[in-house]
Amino acid sequence: MIQIQNLKKSFRTEEVETLALNSVNLKVETGEFVAIMGPSGCGKSTLLNIIGMLDNPTDGAYFFNGEEVGGLKENQRTKIRKGNLGFVFQSFNLIDELTVYENVELPLIYLNMKKSERQQKVKEVLERMKIAHREKHFPQQLSGGQQQRVAIARAVVTNAKLILADEPTGNLDSKNGIEVMNLLTELNQEGTTIIMVTHSDRDSHYAHRVINLFDGQIVTESQNKPFEVNA
Ligand code: ADP
Ligand code: ADP
Repeated sequence: MIQIQNLKKSFRTEEVETLALNSVNLKVETGEFVAIMGPSGCGKSTLLNIIGMLDNPTDGAYFFNGEEVGGLKENQRTKIRKGNLGFVFQSFNLIDELTVYENVELPLIYLNMKKSERQQKVKEVLERMKIAHREKHFPQQLSGGQQQRVAIARAVVTNAKLILADEPTGNLDSKNGIEVMNLLTELNQEGTTIIMVTHSDRDSHYAHRVINLFDGQIVTESQNKPFEVNA
């Protein structure tokens, strides 16, 4: 699904240039669950943002399903992002002014889906995430664990093929954290590819493979459990 070759990313602010990613090579197969770890500032979020097409590399190549992302126009990238990618963040990033239902419905509105179809999809995914009873509530009325379940619902309601999760349990206690990891694992077992940034050793054990970044480079990789490529 993903192939990254010699990826570099530098940021220039005033006179200072930061090399956030330095010659990263990475392959992620469809159906894999990959954890990215490493100290603060090592480039994890930058890598996730590039994979999510929210940011562009300075150098190197990025192929998504065989297509070089750098060669695509912005509207083509937006189309891939809306139809294939789902994002989950540490701080949930829900819209406070919208209800649970409306937050999850939003990506479907962006896809121009009909109202009746939207309704069916939203109901279904809220049931799955065990949050349907809160559909009329606003994010601030929910616990952190509930808000993250809404965020996961929003990420998968479009049938996203790839979920990008940036410290999805970072603001949760262990009970809610484990619940969120179990939901992500279920989605992965149904075929959704997951790339997750985490500081948590507990969370990393849910992944097939752990990649360790240090100073913008992949320094070690370890296989947690076997992953077999689907034919
Ligand atoms: P991590 O997610 O591992 O904490 P980041 O990817 O956020 O690391 O950051 C990697 C490096 O790039 C850090 O030195 C950070 O300060 C820098 N950086 C990230 N984003 C920007 C940006 N938009 N502008 C300038 N520097 C940035
Ligand atoms: P984390 O450590 O959880 O990865 P950060 O707080 O380092 O998160 O970064 C959050 C976001 O802020 C990142 O997506 C990155 O692009 C941006 N960022 C990080 N460092 C800088 C910086 N020095 N200047 C501007 N933006 C930055």
